[in-house]
Amino acid sequence: MSDVAYLTFDIGGTKIASGLVRLPRDPDGAPEVTDVTSIPTLPERGGDDILERLLRLASDRLRACRESDIPIAGVGIGSAGVVDIESGVILSATDLIPGWAGQRIAEAFAGITDLPFRMVGDVGAHGLGESTYGAGRGHRRVLSVGVGTGIGGAIVDDGRLVVGAHGVAGHIGHMSHGLGDGVPCSCGATAGHIEPVASGTGLGTLYNRMRPEGVDPVPDGKAVSDLVAAGDAFAARVMAVSARALGECLAGACNLLDPDAVVVSGSVAGAGEVWWDALREGFAAGALPLVAPTPLLPGALGGAAPLIGAAVAVARAS
Ligand SMILES: [Zn+2]
Repeated sequence: MSDVAYLTFDIGGTKIASGLVRLPRDPDGAPEVTDVTSIPTLPERGGDDILERLLRLASDRLRACRESDIPIAGVGIGSAGVVDIESGVILSATDLIPGWAGQRIAEAFAGITDLPFRMVGDVGAHGLGESTYGAGRGHRRVLSVGVGTGIGGAIVDDGRLVVGAHGVAGHIGHMSHGLGDGVPCSCGATAGHIEPVASGTGLGTLYNRMRPEGVDPVPDGKAVSDLVAAGDAFAARVMAVSARALGECLAGACNLLDPDAVVVSGSVAGAGEVWWDALREGFAAGALPLVAPTPLLPGALGGAAPLIGAAVAVARAS
């Protein structure tokens, strides 16, 4: 284990998590995440306020590390929104964090520390973590997919995030699928994106759209998962339809990118065999013969993945 640590942050719509991450010297070793803490994001206060509190948290943590003689090698951030990795600026963010777009995070950190700094998107950080030390370890090209409230994705090629011309590469939730036709997506499209029918939120939406007369609506996807766990046949059918469609989209993505492995994480990926069986079925139906054996692997790092990935991002950049 390396004796230097990276100070990392995972900035989401609900909370900002922070931890010290030590990366193993041995490539087969496991990273160590300690001193994890978090503050609420309080998005309603706006982007300037979030940045101010983030900087205060970072300053406090850096001071505490100095006082405890913990050497810090760099600061790594995984943030919600579309990120310009090179300039450390938030290019766009959803309405969930008003005023986050346009924030110049790298510049603000340069005002409090000289340490190497790197910010990537939160989904990218997750993908870097899983591909380097999690389920994707040992695979050269990894497509990492997170299925939770929304659907995010990241492409990691030889340890590097593929960000694309506009920083948008990996947005697998906004691939087209007929099942989403007419269902409004978080991006504003109604042209049939997969996210509004296959994310956790989308699972609830799909259930309510498919439900026959006499079946009560559900508040969210979690309620559908609970019904499936309780043996409800209709809920299981809805979940299978949703997961199969996502599997077909993963097949399309793999036909295009041909990764060595796909890592699937997030709350919905924990829904169980009904979901996974349908996902694999959809994948098998859509994948080209040479692509079909590509493994679909459940994520292995859980909630620590973005912090570990943020450390990997700054370690590789510095
Ligand atoms: Zn969309």
